[in-house]
Amino acid sequence: MTAGGAILFLLLVAALGLAWWLHSRLEAAQSRHERELAEERARHATALHEQTSRMEAMLDGMIEGLVVLDGRGRIARANRAAEAMFSFSRMMIGGTLLQAIRNHEVAALAARAAAGTTAIEHEVRLEGTKPRILQVSAVALRDPNGATTGAVLVFHEVTRLRELEAMRQDFVANVSHELRTPLSLIKSAAETLIDGGRNDPAITTRFLEIIDKHATRLNLLIDDLLLLARLDSGRVELKFQPVALRPAAQEALQDAALAARSRNVTLENQMPAEVVVRGDPERLHQVLTNLIDNAIKYGRIDGRVVVAGRLLPSGGAEFSVRDDGPGIPPEALARIFERFYRVDKARSREQGGTGLGLAIVKNVVQAHDGEVRVESAPGAGTEFIITLPAAAK
Ligand code: ADP
Repeated sequence: MTAGGAILFLLLVAALGLAWWLHSRLEAAQSRHERELAEERARHATALHEQTSRMEAMLDGMIEGLVVLDGRGRIARANRAAEAMFSFSRMMIGGTLLQAIRNHEVAALAARAAAGTTAIEHEVRLEGTKPRILQVSAVALRDPNGATTGAVLVFHEVTRLRELEAMRQDFVANVSHELRTPLSLIKSAAETLIDGGRNDPAITTRFLEIIDKHATRLNLLIDDLLLLARLDSGRVELKFQPVALRPAAQEALQDAALAARSRNVTLENQMPAEVVVRGDPERLHQVLTNLIDNAIKYGRIDGRVVVAGRLLPSGGAEFSVRDDGPGIPPEALARIFERFYRVDKARSREQGGTGLGLAIVKNVVQAHDGEVRVESAPGAGTEFIITLPAAAK
């Protein structure tokens, strides 16, 4: 090989070496870049996964039910609250809203929202064994170009709220009615006296008695209403202390002695001396008085009213007021503790009842963390049984 050839050969080897070196560096850089890209992709995927999980957790944590519809009106996703509300499973994903909820009103609302530009709100009633009222808000989903890609529906259950509103309205209507009845009787008695009735002593006495009777009834009603309002708002502070129920029953029975005599009812105290509960003596007296009064009023003439009780193995105590009267019809038993509910309205009014006695009993017992129940059958008498826990508060 000539010197020139050798130099050329060396140059070629050097060039090849350089090329190989450059190639391997390039490859290394490329694989590093690919690795970095893969890592970046993995990081993005993890971040996306975390974001999706967070969003899902957030949606599943909502009290409101949420359903997302795709552009064809099919369910794309639903949160846990929606699944519970409509008892539908993940199987419903891909189905129509009508299949899942079986309510035409909601399906029509979703279609209207998807076609429109503003959110729509509506209250719907879902019929079933237990009808429910739902507030539904629906809004269209759009892509950046404004094309509809689906709709979102949010369901808020307002059944309990509506029930409470209805109860409040009923209560106000009932109170007005209860106030108006004695007031109109007082007014017409006063008018009779003004119109000349007062010239006749017998008429005067009779109408003054009417005024007195109904003014007393108004007073009782207002006392009961105020007490219930205070119990409801938790403004009655119970003064808990040990209460021996035998002497408490004795006192309540003595207070009722006059009423019992007027119906020839025998009162019996069978409360064992060892029954001592933790409670508010004044409120427990009220419970006993209300139950004994009712037992006399709605029990039998010539009947028997018994107050009894016992200590429970749990450490709590149970006491009851029992009569041998006509009892309460089964259909009325579930409603007996409702405000103003009476089995026989005329009878209750004639006896001076406010219709609130048992509601007060229930409220006071609950404030003692206790329970009240009633056992009765037509012709077999009535027994109200109260259970108080071992250490009520
Ligand atoms: P009221 O003022 O009418 O007595 P309550 O709330 O005390 O109101 O009682 C509600 C209704 O429950 C009464 O009107 C009566 O119809 C029924 N009731 C209560 N206690 C008895 C009982 N011992 N026997 C039969 N019916 C009863």
